[in-house]
Amino acid sequence: MAYKITDACLSCGSCESACPVGAISEGADKYEIAEDACISCGSCANECPADAIEAD
Ligand code: SF4
Ligand code: SF4
Repeated sequence: MAYKITDACLSCGSCESACPVGAISEGADKYEIAEDACISCGSCANECPADAIEAD
C-alpha cells in the first residue's frame, strides 16, 4: 500500500519536504509519490492544502 497524489495537486511542493523518506518528487503535471519508497506514514496528506493525497 502507498499514498497517491491525484489531479487536484497544485504543485505547491509542501508535501515533498514533509516526507521522511524522500518518496515525493515533482513530476511533469503534478507531484508524484514513488510507490516502492512510500511507508504510508500519512505526513504528506496532512500537509496538502488541496487534499490531493489519498491512501490507495
Ligand atoms: S505517506 Fe509518508 S512516506 Fe508516503 S509519500 Fe507520504 S510522507 Fe512520504
Ligand atoms: S502538498 Fe498537495 S498540492 Fe502541494 S505539491 Fe503536494 S500533492 Fe500537490
